[in-house]
Amino acid sequence: MAVNKENYLRIKQELDASNTTLVAVSKIKPASDIQKLYDLGQRDFGENYVQELVEKQAQLPADIRWHFIGHLQSNKVKYIAPFVHLIHGVTSGSTLKEISKQAQKNNRVIDCLLQVHIAQEETKFGFDATEIETILLQNEHPNANVIGLMGMASFSDDLTQVRGEFAALKKLFDKAASVKPEFTTLSMGMSGDYQLAVEEGSTMVRIGSLLFGNR
Ligand SMILES: *Cc1c(COP(=O)(O)O)cnc(C)c1O
Repeated sequence: MAVNKENYLRIKQELDASNTTLVAVSKIKPASDIQKLYDLGQRDFGENYVQELVEKQAQLPADIRWHFIGHLQSNKVKYIAPFVHLIHGVTSGSTLKEISKQAQKNNRVIDCLLQVHIAQEETKFGFDATEIETILLQNEHPNANVIGLMGMASFSDDLTQVRGEFAALKKLFDKAASVKPEFTTLSMGMSGDYQLAVEEGSTMVRIGSLLFGNR
């Protein structure tokens, strides 16, 4: 399936109206598809795999803001540290430490989001509320700048459940934001649930299949 320009323009307008940032998730899709959305004005793109991201970054315009949204292994941080704009899925203190170290080597501060485990499903990664508090209090990784939280709701038709999970994440976010002024970003919502996420206070959604077709 090709890039869906109509969906892009409609969703972009919708999100602009609620001040929500759109990250276009381009994993597995060719660089030529990314270029098509770029030509329509899109600058934020999300990728899940380090090697794929590095290859695409080298081929595409330099002013793209690349978001890493996959599960990041510590030993791969170095490959994306020179250019990544925001790392969404930090799931361990050791990854945060490595991000800070690699950022320092590149004379950068890298913005990050802590991934929170909000779904009922066991398979999803992430911290729980207590762990988030501990990490934020420690504050010992100067070049990894935690600017918010990221979460994925259960893959479910039960909208009450999905909404409840988003609301719980928003509550955690607000609590942290009340003591951390740098907390600006709440990344929640995908193709199937982004409208619910926006209603519950998301500031950034990650949308793939509605823009690029099924994978
Ligand atoms: C793939 C992916 C998305 C996009 O999913 P769609 O359902 O295609 O919109 C969003 N977030 C994460 C973490 C993903 O891995």
